[in-house]
Amino acid sequence: MDLKGKAAVVCGGGGFIGGHLVRSLLDNGVNVIRVVDVKPMDEWYQVSADVENVVADLKDKDSCYAAAKGAEVVFQLAADMGGMGFIENNKTLCMLSVLINTHMLVAARDCGVQRFFYSSSACVYNGEKQKDPRVIPLKESDAYPALPEDGYGWEKLFSERMCRHFEEDFGMQSRIARYHNVYGPHGTWTGGREKAPAAICRKVLEAKLSGKHEIEIWGDGNQTRSFMYIDDCMKGTQAIIESEIHEPLNLGSNELVTINQLVDIVEEIAGVKLKRRYKLDAPKGVNGRNSDNTRILEYLGWQPSIRLKDGLAKTYEWTQKEILALARA
Ligand code: NAD
Repeated sequence: MDLKGKAAVVCGGGGFIGGHLVRSLLDNGVNVIRVVDVKPMDEWYQVSADVENVVADLKDKDSCYAAAKGAEVVFQLAADMGGMGFIENNKTLCMLSVLINTHMLVAARDCGVQRFFYSSSACVYNGEKQKDPRVIPLKESDAYPALPEDGYGWEKLFSERMCRHFEEDFGMQSRIARYHNVYGPHGTWTGGREKAPAAICRKVLEAKLSGKHEIEIWGDGNQTRSFMYIDDCMKGTQAIIESEIHEPLNLGSNELVTINQLVDIVEEIAGVKLKRRYKLDAPKGVNGRNSDNTRILEYLGWQPSIRLKDGLAKTYEWTQKEILALARA
């Protein structure tokens, strides 16, 4: 499918990835007819002109019908989510996103939507395969037998299967990306839902600006992860929705780092060296997680192109502007 000119709706477009997606779709000639998010509009991370911006709760079925009306393509990114600190302590809220996904699928089917994009997560993967920090990168088949992240991961895995069965039973095509840690400007960097790259940028900046050269790290800092810059995520998302690949695909970086190495990189960008305090009882998620990109490379020729230190430099610079603007307000 060529997305150009298609009537598209972005659900969760007031959020981090959704906000970038709207911009990127418009830049690529997609006819974005509507953007929907539950947050008041002044809390949206990016607001694009020339589209219908709607504040609505997509847990509600009628709102989903209103959202899907006239759409040829739906991008479903709305979810109650955050970093480990949020998802480990809000399992019910995370699972209630099932209402958004279920109602949006029903509405999309009934409104004749041609293609449904679902933003799944690396949290669907079996926890047994993520115990060692020197993790073997996760292949798509590692989601089964199922032992996903409690709460958030179970909901994502269930909703993936809903997409699959809507396609099998009703012919409504879906495309699924399993995002691995996306980061970049215009995301959540404070308030409790932020993820590691944004949190580390903020903590390093706060230490630097306050002159108190200390940083708190969740866990022992040896847990490993990969982080995908938002621009790579945009290219991959569009490649997946336009493709004929019906099964879920990993969309993530495979540049594996420990959290300590992530802090090293941000310290270098900031030009500071901080004393590290490890909070061993803080939520830290699995010990190791990396993305095996064999399939997406083979099927779509996609691979991440932005090195972690380059993406972090942009994220750090943006976070600094946010902190300084907040201090001035
Ligand atoms: P985000 O929290 O910035 O964006 C999600 C948006 O959904 C928010 O703006 C929120 O207000 C909105 N939303 C929540 N409940 C809603 C409701 N009932 N009705 C309408 N809107 C609602 O998160 P993000 O990082 O942009 O993530 C987007 C999607 O990608 C989510 O589905 C998330 O689970 C998935 N994902 C993200 C990452 C990542 O690293 N950021 C990784 C894996 C998967």
